[in-house]
Amino acid sequence: MSGFADYARLDATALREAIVSKRTTASQVVEAALARIAALDPELSAFSTVLADSARARAKELDAALARGEPAGALCGVPFALKSNMCVEGVEAHCGSKILAGYKPPYTAPFVQRLLDEGAILVGMTHMDEFAMGSSGENSGYAVAKNPWDTSRTPGGSSSGSCAAVAARMVPLSLGSDTGGSVRQPAALCGIVGFKPTYGRITRYGLVAFGSSLDQVSPFTRSARDMELVLSVISGADEHDSTCLPLPAIDPERSDSIRGLRIGVPKEYFASGLDADVRAKVEGAIAKLVELGAATVPIELPHTEYAIPTYYVVATAEASSNLARYDGIRYGPRTNGDGSLQSMIAATREAGFGPEVKRRILLGTYVLSSGYYDAWYVRALKVRRLIRHDFDEAFKSVDLIACPTSPTAAFRLGEKTDDPVAMYLSDVMTVPTSLAGLPAVSVPCGTVTLGGKQLPVGLQLIGPSLADARVLRAARVFEDATQHQREIYALAPSVREGAAR
Ligand code: GLN
Repeated sequence: MSGFADYARLDATALREAIVSKRTTASQVVEAALARIAALDPELSAFSTVLADSARARAKELDAALARGEPAGALCGVPFALKSNMCVEGVEAHCGSKILAGYKPPYTAPFVQRLLDEGAILVGMTHMDEFAMGSSGENSGYAVAKNPWDTSRTPGGSSSGSCAAVAARMVPLSLGSDTGGSVRQPAALCGIVGFKPTYGRITRYGLVAFGSSLDQVSPFTRSARDMELVLSVISGADEHDSTCLPLPAIDPERSDSIRGLRIGVPKEYFASGLDADVRAKVEGAIAKLVELGAATVPIELPHTEYAIPTYYVVATAEASSNLARYDGIRYGPRTNGDGSLQSMIAATREAGFGPEVKRRILLGTYVLSSGYYDAWYVRALKVRRLIRHDFDEAFKSVDLIACPTSPTAAFRLGEKTDDPVAMYLSDVMTVPTSLAGLPAVSVPCGTVTLGGKQLPVGLQLIGPSLADARVLRAARVFEDATQHQREIYALAPSVREGAAR
């Protein structure tokens, strides 16, 4: 592979340091990223667009600026990828949907601009479940991304490509979106770090809407310190999104201790349905937190069992409203019907949307329809309030909550495609936090053996509203104290051999 030889070993922080200290150049780093994408992506299908020319041009500019002695940005020369539901001026954002084939946004999302302004280099857009609806990437209207640990398995979803791209070390950083777990669940299944901030900490302007009261831009990194760095860049107030909180960016905590933290362990998350090997890893991780000076407290989150049904009322209701704008007039390709406007819209939507998106539009339209609105939608909002209340009560006696991110390790592609409810259930541990709007991270906590292969497991740490920095600190302290990053680096086949086998 050409370019900077150490590329695949380093996280974003170390890559920037190598560039700033002149051990390498941004151009060499970009060449290494492009070479790795060329070598691995034919098998992994993480990328839907690779922006080689603009990435090379930007790297050259950065190298010239460094040579002139200009100050380096916080992410100077760090290659990154974006989920295809994010707006960059002139770059196709198809959202995994045929209905947006060829759609190029007229503006760049502020959360992307903030990365670019700090010197990060956009190298491509990634595959995803159509409109972020799914947990495996298999609802894509284009290509299905594979898990670098075992290409017969899912990398998780819906931010499947963004996750696989970081897990296979094609880029050290990517952005996904998390509505019900779409960053945390894949991060767990691929052995990297994924973080969903408190709702409102990152602007949604330029993120194509799915469930607006749930959607949050959420990064993937391979180290917790990178996650803190990225959040300090992209979070914070933005006038374009009225749900973005008028607060400064998340300020990483300096402390490298979790001594004295009270960590709640919710019994509902360790009940039936949790894979025994995953459970053992997560319990081991919690024991490690205790060893590091935290104290565990058993807690209850009694409304957990209602989270999935509540989510599938709220999220589909919002989706049915948000997706009404795809009508063949304003965006994407058009299919003509019998000549009437009505039939053109129907034909465009029939041809453009895949089966899962249609299922959700139907469900969402039903729960909002007159006569059913109170019975379904309003009731779901009340249950959502109770779920939030469970967390509020728990956080009266604990500082963080620790639990698994996903009930199983990565499942096989095709395993759940015929059973939507089984697919929905893979999010049982991430959806409650989304409904409550709370910050949560997934950090690697070891591997299990499945089908003769090693597969990663994630520990989820959840914080109270606005305690984003505390969640990130705990993830960093845990990561620093364990060998999991190193273990995962040594084990991940695509890292070891330079090929995804
Ligand atoms: N898997 C969940 C769903 O299908 C969550 C998706 C997401 O977070 N975007 O809705």
